[in-house]
Amino acid sequence: MSAHEQMRAMLDQLMGTGRDGENNKFKVHFTDPRVCKSFLLGCCPHDILAATRMDLGECPKLHDLALRADYESAAQKKDYFYDVDAMEHLQNFINECDRRTEQAKRRLAETQEELSAEVAAKLQRVHELAEQIGKQLALAEKLGAEGNVEESMKTWEEVEELRKQKAVAEQEYRNSMPASSYQQQKLRVCEVCSAYLGIHDNDRRLADHFGGKLHLGFIAIRDKLKELKKGRLERDRDYLRAREERNKTDRSRRHRSRSNSRHRHRSRSDERKRRSKHRRRSSSRERRRTHRRDRSKDRSDKTKVADLIKILVCHFRSRSAERRHSHSAPSNDKEVTNHEG
Ligand SMILES: [Zn+2]
Ligand SMILES: [Zn+2]
Repeated sequence: MSAHEQMRAMLDQLMGTGRDGENNKFKVHFTDPRVCKSFLLGCCPHDILAATRMDLGECPKLHDLALRADYESAAQKKDYFYDVDAMEHLQNFINECDRRTEQAKRRLAETQEELSAEVAAKLQRVHELAEQIGKQLALAEKLGAEGNVEESMKTWEEVEELRKQKAVAEQEYRNSMPASSYQQQKLRVCEVCSAYLGIHDNDRRLADHFGGKLHLGFIAIRDKLKELKKGRLERDRDYLRAREERNKTDRSRRHRSRSNSRHRHRSRSDERKRRSKHRRRSSSRERRRTHRRDRSKDRSDKTKVADLIKILVCHFRSRSAERRHSHSAPSNDKEVTNHEG
């Protein structure tokens, strides 16, 4: 990327499509179905794995930093549910990767000489230590490059300790089989990125793998997928909670209108019917519990508003009765007494 292009990308990222009245290069809005939603959320595997051994080529959907900036500012005011799309996209991608890992494992099981459970466990130990060394080495180098000398030195010491442990584990593994077998390269599949790792890989090679763009890219994608799933769960919970609140408000509103009813005995039986209907409909125990809580709350509300309702009912009845029987003597007193009895 030239300096000019870099500057342009930075401005896009900052300002979105509206900058200087220019439109974005694709002439689309970020809501356009052609736009990559994973890109808007910064997690498209086509970007993350670019220039690695598993480069996926260009994404079939549109990527534009200015559209991402538009989306980010719009998403602060409205939920577009793009995380759901991105989650699906990443899940499919990871499923495909895991399928490849399983396939590679099967192939290894077919081609590599089978080991006894005891030897296999020793080999596994060597692999695990090699993995830790590779990771720590990559970390030590990263810390060093960032100028964090103290942390880097500490990590180097850990690497030295792991190397000693690995030498012991290797010796144990070597002693458990004839020399000719030991010479054979034993491969294993990386569970994160499905690449092959060898038991005779040196530390440099391991560090290159565990600190490399491919392996780290897969970690980033897997982490993002976890984060999206968590967000989705939280949103589902919020949605259910909001629905409960809404139901509660509706119920108390219905309750108020019932209390205004002229025939109280009828409304009570109506309520019983309605409640049993609810009970049949509600699917979870949680919901039934909430109903019980609401009913007891309703009872206390009843006593609080009862007086007010009585006054209102009296007032409206007497007024309508006055209008209907403007010539005859008012009978509303009797009606109200009946109602309360
Ligand atoms: Zn994409
Ligand atoms: Zn890996």
